[in-house]
Amino acid sequence: MDLNLWVCGRRGHLTYAPVEDDLRARLHAETALGAAWRCLRCGDFVLGEPRMAGPAADAPLVPRGRALRDAIILRLLALERFTKGLLVLAAGYGVIQFRDSRDAIQRAFHEDIPLLKPFTDKIGWNLENSTIVETIRRVVEARSDTLLWVAIALIVYGVLQLVEGTGLWLLKRWGEYFALIATSLGLPIEIYELTERITWFRIAALVINVAAVVYLLVAKRLFGVRGGHAAYEAERHEMSLLEVEHAAARQTADERTSVAAG
Ligand SMILES: [Zn+2]
Repeated sequence: MDLNLWVCGRRGHLTYAPVEDDLRARLHAETALGAAWRCLRCGDFVLGEPRMAGPAADAPLVPRGRALRDAIILRLLALERFTKGLLVLAAGYGVIQFRDSRDAIQRAFHEDIPLLKPFTDKIGWNLENSTIVETIRRVVEARSDTLLWVAIALIVYGVLQLVEGTGLWLLKRWGEYFALIATSLGLPIEIYELTERITWFRIAALVINVAAVVYLLVAKRLFGVRGGHAAYEAERHEMSLLEVEHAAARQTADERTSVAAG
């Protein structure tokens, strides 16, 4: 599937009329149906007025090809971070709510568990030694300030996820660095969790995050990997249709000059 065409189909073609005559000629075509302009993303000629116009230097740097694929991957990652951030914030809010109503829950726990005893005795379930009840008891009886720290930790983590998601969504360089560092710092915790208990969810989370770290380092050339930022920008510009056409127009002009001189 052609990603360029797919995005053009969803968001419309991005035609641009540069003021420079030689460049204008390359992006413009007169057809039987009227003027057509070349889309800076998919490269097709599109009938009708250009969507934007101005000097070539002001034209938007339209992500296409590999750069477009990168942008889509980063935005998918951003959505994952947003979802996680909101869930963690909701959990933090839940802990605060729980902390406020802890007395009522504690009372219910201590009053209701004994009420269940005749029933659980009958089915042979020793409620007092049950791990589930033990876990609930530990949470219910956790100290108020412990719960506060848990809530703060969840809220800080949730906010960090949202910041990371925002940086990735906006396709900012700082967002990529932020995501790389935050994700790397989270890896030891995820590995530790797997040593405690292996679940598909934990395995999937670890695989996604290791892939994200490798992807950010290699494809986005962070921390100077593969030539770093300069190489990344150069690659992006190399793929820009307008700049390709600009170079071609310059070359034609040079050839004309040399022919005239010779
Ligand atoms: Zn297009």
